Amino acid sequence: MPKDYYDVLGVDEDASEDEIKKAYRKKAKQYHPDMNPDLDKEEAEEKFKEVTEAYEVLSDQDKRAQYDKFGHTGPSQGFDFNNQDYERARSAFSDSSFDDIFDMFFGEGRGRRRSRTAAQKGEDLQRKLRISLEDAAKGTRVKFSIPRFVECDHCNGSGVKPGSSKRTCSHCNGRGEIRQKQQTMLGSFVNVQVCPKCGGSGEVIDEPCPKCRGEGRTKKKTEISVKVPPGVKDGSRLRIKGKGNVGRQGAPAGDLFITVDVKEHDTFIRKGDDILTTVPVQFTQLTLGDTIKVPTLEGVEEIELKPGTQSGEKIMLRDYGIPHLNNHGKGDQIIRVKGVTPTDLGPEEKELMERLNELLDSPMGDNSDERESFFEKLKNFREEFRK
Ligand SMILES: [Zn+2]
Ligand SMILES: [Zn+2]
Repeated sequence: MPKDYYDVLGVDEDASEDEIKKAYRKKAKQYHPDMNPDLDKEEAEEKFKEVTEAYEVLSDQDKRAQYDKFGHTGPSQGFDFNNQDYERARSAFSDSSFDDIFDMFFGEGRGRRRSRTAAQKGEDLQRKLRISLEDAAKGTRVKFSIPRFVECDHCNGSGVKPGSSKRTCSHCNGRGEIRQKQQTMLGSFVNVQVCPKCGGSGEVIDEPCPKCRGEGRTKKKTEISVKVPPGVKDGSRLRIKGKGNVGRQGAPAGDLFITVDVKEHDTFIRKGDDILTTVPVQFTQLTLGDTIKVPTLEGVEEIELKPGTQSGEKIMLRDYGIPHLNNHGKGDQIIRVKGVTPTDLGPEEKELMERLNELLDSPMGDNSDERESFFEKLKNFREEFRK
């Protein structure tokens, strides 16, 4: 008793065409005798035959309807699946990489073919560019040189020895591709290959340029000047059109992609387009208030500390951050003042400190007998610290 085709492919009886196709693709790959050396050869062959037969029937609307109605016996003679069909399927799958051949079967080609009209563009190039945070903020122009393929100056990129010329490729008659019709049990399909003689260009060179050996391009150090826009981010990619490698035999150049690497700064931390800075100040300045100098991307600014500023308090300098990339406006600079505790007091300072200490109440209060108010104050302090 032959196995049920739906069971063989592991699909439901109401499976869509797509589901059946997918199931067969999976199973065929799993059992293909030439692709699964671990499996017992005979057993793999048997299984492959089984799934191929099931697919052959279930992928055909008429045959499937017939099978649904009458089962394996069919109305009269059954299904004409024979060894020849099987061999065709098997060799079709072995010819090329499995996925490629499968895609050709079912018209899901990934555009592998190359026609001579679309001459192959030169390769794209990549480069890293390290710049300072200041340059990232202001924008800059950077010059550097890279080795890249440029048009051969001996043959002007043609690849042909000056004085001679190209001729039409006789192998493909100038089409640049070779088409082969293949018959399989799943129908016929056309296998398109780039012409091996001319590499897809449709033309051959009998006398190549001696300088570039027919490539039409030579490697040369090229000066590149790149404009880095203000506000560029770490990891931003800049594209310089046409500054990749020039293609072979006069084909257009690829692009140059520059990945920007913004150096970390000693003083400034970048957060989006804002700049964060921590500035140390004496606790006396915090207490009495003062004018202090702070570093900014533009230089040095003076800012006012109010009397009674707490350590950790933040002061915002609006629009002192980094310009928004491709947009108006700027980020801000946020300055966090940090009180420093003096550690190397002279005798006079120490005496003053001690006197001060006598005059000042402890932040927790000296006479605080009440636990509750003590903890209340502590809580307020913690809130302050969180800011
Ligand atoms: Zn050719
Ligand atoms: Zn040349």
